[in-house]
Amino acid sequence: MENWSERDLKYIWHPCSQMKDYAELPPIVIERGDGVYLYDTSGKKYIDVISSWWCNLLGHCNPKINEAVKKQIDELEHVIFANFSNKRAIELCEKLIKVLPSGLCKFNFSDNGSASIECAMKMSFQYHYQTGAPKKKRFMALTDAYHGETIGALSAGGCDLYSEIYKPMLMDVVRIDGPDCYRCPYGLCRDNCSCECAQKAEEAFEKYGDETCALLVEPLLQGSAGMKIYPPLYLKKLRNLCDEYNVILIADEIATGYGRTGKMFAFGHAGVSPDIICLSKGLTGGYMPMSLAVTTQKIYDAFYADYNDGKAFMHSHTYSGNPLACSAANAVLDILSDGSVLKNANNNSVYFNKIIKEKFEGHKNVGEVRSIGLINAIELVKDKTSKEPFEPGLRIGYQVYKKALNRGVILRPLGNVIYFNPPLIIGKDDMDYVTDAALASLKDILG
Ligand SMILES: *Cc1c(COP(=O)(O)O)cnc(C)c1O
Repeated sequence: MENWSERDLKYIWHPCSQMKDYAELPPIVIERGDGVYLYDTSGKKYIDVISSWWCNLLGHCNPKINEAVKKQIDELEHVIFANFSNKRAIELCEKLIKVLPSGLCKFNFSDNGSASIECAMKMSFQYHYQTGAPKKKRFMALTDAYHGETIGALSAGGCDLYSEIYKPMLMDVVRIDGPDCYRCPYGLCRDNCSCECAQKAEEAFEKYGDETCALLVEPLLQGSAGMKIYPPLYLKKLRNLCDEYNVILIADEIATGYGRTGKMFAFGHAGVSPDIICLSKGLTGGYMPMSLAVTTQKIYDAFYADYNDGKAFMHSHTYSGNPLACSAANAVLDILSDGSVLKNANNNSVYFNKIIKEKFEGHKNVGEVRSIGLINAIELVKDKTSKEPFEPGLRIGYQVYKKALNRGVILRPLGNVIYFNPPLIIGKDDMDYVTDAALASLKDILG
């Protein structure tokens, strides 16, 4: 009964996978984790340089988080969150409000990122409905956006790979041509432009602003789009447009929150606040499924009335406010509270970016190396001068990924973009190792 991957394939339908691929590359069954390392059932060691889908923040089996969850499980595992509460959830709000962008003070709990996006969308629609703007029914989002996989979140998303087939089921979202700094249509450079591309957002607001209830945005970093990075000024411009047209600004910080971009939240780089922020992934350090949609007093007040006025937000998830997840989330904030983890990560990010540039930029198929915080992405192109992409069917990123696995590095790519998004605690030796392994794997495939 040893063969774990055979037993897996007998039953399990894995996420975001063509299961036929598993015939050639069977699932790697992980038995144990320790810091940035994972160990499979044969004892082989891997460096988790994508933080187990961007959620592991402070290492696997982090002793402090383990302790907090163990302590909680002997006290209370779960309790209904309507009319009941629990200490860990209350403590979490008290801790988080100190680090959130200003004005965000009312916390709505869900159990995964997509669910928090749905929550934010429904809240935005209902807010306008109850404040005399029932015509505001539509949503705006950027090209190549990713906001999750449930129907509302998928509608807001702009990655055809995930949504194309479902289009007949989806909402009609206003799509704004977002920033594309590597292939800037204005021929400008993200380091010194004035976000001329925000013109496209202005045009969309002029046309559709009156019928729009909310704009969703992944601040500074469009993850699933291929780790596309754009300047903070763009967020400021969106903030101004949202104010001008009475549109709610929803910050999807599910991937960017918790220090991934060098600050606690990506909006912190822009010096403006969203009206709703969605958090998940790093929120529990990658321990438990939990998410939050945090909003302002103003939005909260639009739902506060006598019961029979019918203004309540009748949105719920069974596991809202789960104390185990909250205990992990509290431990994460305790670990981050003195600032040293983030400071150290930011120092290391300079080194990480430097060695990646040195190792990769000279390669004939490396179009761009871009970075924010500890996140570094390498966009592979067929031709450096024309920036012509590889045909998706060649699955270049996937080929590199398979080679890197042999070297004990988990790189799971996004199309032609390979990237590093490691736990904040990764050290320099591991940075050296993963970049060498990635380069060797790239050379295996592209010479
Ligand atoms: C992961 C992610 C989501 C969806 O979260 P799930 O927990 O996978 O549903 C939404 N938005 C962004 C930016 C994400 O990275």
